[in-house]
Amino acid sequence: MLEGCMAEIVTEQKVRFGRGMRRETGEEIAALGRSRAVILSTPHQAEMAMDLAGDIGSASAGLFTGAAMHTPVDVTEAALTHAREVAADCLVAIGGGSTVGLGKAIALRTGLPQVAIPTTYAGSEATPILGQTEDGAKTTLTDPRVRPQTVLYDPELIATLPVAMTVTSALNAMAHAVEALYARDRDAETDALAMDGLRAFAQGLPAVVETPGDLDAREATQRGAWACGAVLGRVGMALHHKLCHTLGGMLNLPHAETHAVILPHATAYNQDAAADRLRPLAELLGGGRPADALWSFAGRLGAPRSLRELGMKEADLDRTAAAAAANPYWNPRPVEQDAIRALLARAWAGDPPA
Ligand code: NAD
Repeated sequence: MLEGCMAEIVTEQKVRFGRGMRRETGEEIAALGRSRAVILSTPHQAEMAMDLAGDIGSASAGLFTGAAMHTPVDVTEAALTHAREVAADCLVAIGGGSTVGLGKAIALRTGLPQVAIPTTYAGSEATPILGQTEDGAKTTLTDPRVRPQTVLYDPELIATLPVAMTVTSALNAMAHAVEALYARDRDAETDALAMDGLRAFAQGLPAVVETPGDLDAREATQRGAWACGAVLGRVGMALHHKLCHTLGGMLNLPHAETHAVILPHATAYNQDAAADRLRPLAELLGGGRPADALWSFAGRLGAPRSLRELGMKEADLDRTAAAAAANPYWNPRPVEQDAIRALLARAWAGDPPA
């Protein structure tokens, strides 16, 4: 059930949008037949989590504010211990992809139902995908049990996301939709969902960047985030995601920023092989080659341009190109190591897409 849905998509998730929507959390916990929630957040968003705990009163059984990037298993185990100690019967994750990931990791191990209250555009709340790290290695699984039962999008919460993170997080979301357009298992429904997501950001993001507290524009972009996340959960991703996973996994580059830098370059790599599929994207962003349209869009919004500014060393180009070309995800154009090395070199230097 998707309130005010854009594309005609049937989803088993209950998704609600609107100002002050976080205040419905208690009602949604009750609707799940539960009464003892553990509220999850990062340390940075502990205050937001405490406000929420105050709001839901006796339905708050405890607070765990240690969520961390890439869902480390030791953090999940600490949160699990807390959830057991307070006899939690459900989870409420308030935050970005890292916090939502923690909720998913606990749900996988306990079967507890989840309410997600996303405060970035990452879109994890809409997918049955969970990435976890242990001993420095990241593994990803897909399991319908990890997808939150209920998602509450409150534009008042995302309005505090700093502008730079707003832009990179939005480009992270858009990357899911761009790759969905040329996915091998795409269909008319996923095309519509991807274009809904892209349109919401193309139209809403400039307004959000100009006025971060514009709650109408924030809500429009949150609808985009849901659509982009939902389509990520439905089709296979390709070169762009493989590159970002490789760079994040090997070099620990920041997640959303890496997506923002790579997207125009990965699109350039695929734009001839997927020309028909990417045409609507280019038209949406004002025409020209899809990669150039994305490059201009991201540049106007002040997105980071280079992997160098994210901390990557030039000396890492060879080994990351080799890793990205090994066991490639399906991609519309064959993945060739030399061409990937050239792509990464441009992205590293901050050059426009080839
Ligand atoms: P994040 O959740 O790590 O958040 C980054 C920082 O921003 C944190 O300190 C957080 O507390 C803070 N923050 C979040 N929202 C804020 C707000 N509104 N105001 C102020 N500060 C705020 O970042 P992310 O990019 O949302 O998530 C990245 C993680 O999500 C990665 O681990 C990635 O792998 C995962 N992810 C998973 C999926 C999936 O489907 N499984 C999809 C997308 C991303």
